[in-house]
Amino acid sequence: MNLRVPGPTPCPEEILQSGAQQMINHRGPEFAEIMFRVHSGLQKIFQTENDILLLTASGTAAMEAAIVNTLSPGDRILGVTIGVFGDRFCQVAEAYGADLVKLQSPLGSAVDPDSVKAVLESDPAIKAVAITHNETSTGVTNDLEAVCRVVKSYDKLLLVDAISSLGCIPLETDGWGCDVVMTASQKGFIVPPGLAFVSVSPRAWAASKQATMPRFYLDFSRHLNSFQRGQTPWTPAVSVFMALDRALDIMLDEGMSAIYERHARLARMTREGIKALGLELFAQNEEYASNTVTAVKVPADLEAKVLLDTLRTKHGVVLAGGQGPVMEGKVFRVGHLGYVTEEDIHGVLQALELTLPRI
Ligand SMILES: *Cc1c(COP(=O)(O)O)cnc(C)c1O
Repeated sequence: MNLRVPGPTPCPEEILQSGAQQMINHRGPEFAEIMFRVHSGLQKIFQTENDILLLTASGTAAMEAAIVNTLSPGDRILGVTIGVFGDRFCQVAEAYGADLVKLQSPLGSAVDPDSVKAVLESDPAIKAVAITHNETSTGVTNDLEAVCRVVKSYDKLLLVDAISSLGCIPLETDGWGCDVVMTASQKGFIVPPGLAFVSVSPRAWAASKQATMPRFYLDFSRHLNSFQRGQTPWTPAVSVFMALDRALDIMLDEGMSAIYERHARLARMTREGIKALGLELFAQNEEYASNTVTAVKVPADLEAKVLLDTLRTKHGVVLAGGQGPVMEGKVFRVGHLGYVTEEDIHGVLQALELTLPRI
């Protein structure tokens, strides 16, 4: 199968093998070694000197961790959303009693950093800003660096969902002043699902000392205390740790700038191929089209489900459908993140070419 959904992404065989090893004591010295090695590899990819906490959970738990560890009920947070995952960040904040101010951009567009500035200027009570770096549902990447500049000029806490960008699209955690950055193992990290990674800046640590939202499993300070002994507070997904240990070696061997370039090149190739087939990108402006996932409008005379089923059953190509009430049935998405080659993208475009006129 040519699995081209934006996570879980295919994993190289040797990484799967690393994850298939015998169990070890998660409170013993071998696990501590893996833990410390993985931590320093992740710091390189996050471009940070901050603590990175490893949660046995999916990415959404890391979003929840960012909220509950830095805020108190009633704290005002600006949720910057350009799609389904931005909306999810807002929902998490509301679920824990934050006072949410939502800045919504039209689907298919990126946020205008000036509009973030305007909200922060008019509402000094805002304490934190939550934003999605790469919106997986629409295939759009925000200009995070520009938004960070604005948020930092107002001295707000900055929480970044980088789940479908980190390790694929440049993000400078420290350079841009991101306080909490989160991602997950099954997106850009060529590892099976099961782990989420959260970086925590000194400023976010200070916020966590004041924050009173309820938390236990995801409590940052419990994770840091255990980390100092090379452990996690609760039983970790040991197999995924082993796979990650190997994956980070492979990623750092390829080198981050080479990885970023590969993603940019394959994304460009995907977009060009899609347009050459007479299809239209969902991103309104190609300038901010994502380098990890391409969302495509389903032609009016086509049934999205039939298209995706045909690609899967006749050609072994698995693409993702649209998410949420507006995009379901209107959009399909090609994931091109992680372990992906030109051949994989060729396969997708060829299958589309064979399928489209035949429906
Ligand atoms: C996948 C994804 C999530 C959710 O992650 P899960 O691991 O499915 O919980 C959140 N945000 C973005 C941008 C994503 O791509």
